[in-house]
Amino acid sequence: MAQVPFEFRYSKLIEKNPREIVLLRGNGCKWRRCRFCDYHTDFSLDEKANFELNSKVLAQVTGEFERLEVINSGSFCDLDAGTVAMLLEICQTKKIHTIYFESHWMHRELIAAWRERFAEIGVRVQMKIGVETFDSLFRESYLDKGMGMATAEDIAQYFDQVCLLQGLPGQNRESMLKDIELGLKYFVRVCVNIMVPNTKSILPDPQVIKIFLEEIYPLYKDDERIDILLNNTDFGVGV
Ligand code: SF4
Repeated sequence: MAQVPFEFRYSKLIEKNPREIVLLRGNGCKWRRCRFCDYHTDFSLDEKANFELNSKVLAQVTGEFERLEVINSGSFCDLDAGTVAMLLEICQTKKIHTIYFESHWMHRELIAAWRERFAEIGVRVQMKIGVETFDSLFRESYLDKGMGMATAEDIAQYFDQVCLLQGLPGQNRESMLKDIELGLKYFVRVCVNIMVPNTKSILPDPQVIKIFLEEIYPLYKDDERIDILLNNTDFGVGV
């Protein structure tokens, strides 16, 4: 994916769980091994440049929905200290009561302190994780997510929301439904991403996507607890 242009770093999601969303830049995902992912190329080790870019992106936040989703092609702890200070300040000045972050499983032990930091100013943190599937063998042997054999119950000890990746070779109607239902059982919200081709070797499976569109999408498209991204840019950020 490489570096995302400025104009694709801010958007508003108005249909379900209305919120503003920003795509910030951090110092990079520390895992970088997920076999389907090239998002992690949107990073820089230049913290000053990251802060300057993130400041301009965050200047667009109005607080109109009192909710802000922060993504950064990695994990919350990849953000520089200046950006974090600015997020805390924006939550207060724009009256944001809920802020969403994303994280890889490897940083799970940092989440409690992160929640506490925002709770001190009265802001609730919702932490999101890309699990892609709860079938741990498929997840680890094929996708290389780096989550070991963690189950939905294990993941729910730390995280509030999950992202699932569907439309992959080897998935079928039953496996996709099972993942969505487990997501709804253990988590506040679920985000289903349909695989699209990128620079990595894993390709979408057109037959699996056809099954999703015909037999699964109609069941959940109006569910307020599920975001479905048929294209990875449906949130209006990223390229
Ligand atoms: S943890 Fe996230 S950003 Fe990092 S490689 Fe995996 S999917 Fe990509």
